[in-house]
Amino acid sequence: ATPMSVAVATGIGANRGVLIKQGEALEQLSQVTHFVFDKTGTLTEGRLQVASIQCFGDMTEATLLQLAASVEQYSEHGIATAICEAAKTKSLRPLSISNFQSTPGKGVMSSVEQDTVYVGTLAWLHSLGIKLPTQYQPMLNQLETDGISCVLIAVNGRIEGMLGLVDSLRSDATETVQQLLNAGVKVTVLSGDKKAVVNAVTACLGDVTRQAEVLPKDKSDVIRALQQSGDIVAMVGDGINDSPALIQADVGIAMASGTDVSVESADVVLSHQMLSKVAEARLLAARTLRTIR
Ligand code: ADP
Ligand code: MG
Repeated sequence: ATPMSVAVATGIGANRGVLIKQGEALEQLSQVTHFVFDKTGTLTEGRLQVASIQCFGDMTEATLLQLAASVEQYSEHGIATAICEAAKTKSLRPLSISNFQSTPGKGVMSSVEQDTVYVGTLAWLHSLGIKLPTQYQPMLNQLETDGISCVLIAVNGRIEGMLGLVDSLRSDATETVQQLLNAGVKVTVLSGDKKAVVNAVTACLGDVTRQAEVLPKDKSDVIRALQQSGDIVAMVGDGINDSPALIQADVGIAMASGTDVSVESADVVLSHQMLSKVAEARLLAARTLRTIR
């Protein structure tokens, strides 16, 4: 590409909310063979809502929700925001906590008064020796099959209940993914969420690869593996735990609402929160590079 045509395309992109930081990114974008999308906050709105509260012991729904919100009050995850919002709606004030710890891709824990409270995935609790009574497993499976992400609440080593959270696909997700598939590039959905939830939420996206239960620290390894198999990879993320993957990718694309880190880690930044800009950016790059060849 001539410097002139790249400058023109970069200018067109900027006008349309596609900020291309460097000319080379445009060239690489035109050659991408595989687009990888983070699920939460990228393919989905990332505005989760508490859709179900289940108590397994004698705790009331209000107590369970208040306890969960107390532990989540210092977490920045979308799950935390949803739980704190739900508690607030019911006028439940968070209790003061100490020893807050967050484990990316797994959950959060802290001391609440005399109790030790965990809020997170079942797999994480299992790894800590905390078991879910078998009679609750079918309910959990059913919620997940319906596309509801479940987080469990354990108090002093006993699971007291769970919260089900829903998040909707962005309205332009299906169309964007379809456009990419039609252009002959591969699409992968990458998520830390359970397989059943990822399948349900992305069912309408068609023929994409789904990689679920990938820990934040392992997301860049997934990108590296695709590159080693010969793909030129673009990673689209919102920056919550996916900055290393954005850096590893041949082209890192960040949604502008993402964290400052994600914007720093990315080669291309999409403003306006529009996923359709991904397909638009690819088309712009492909056209620019084709004209000079
Ligand atoms: P995603 O890849 O969908 O953005 P993450 O990798 O951030 O998801 O998290 C994976 C899973 O870990 C979540 O679905 C949730 O079950 C659990 N988790 C992560 N952070 C929290 C939190 N703050 N509170 C409760 N659970 C959490
Ligand atoms: Mg995410």
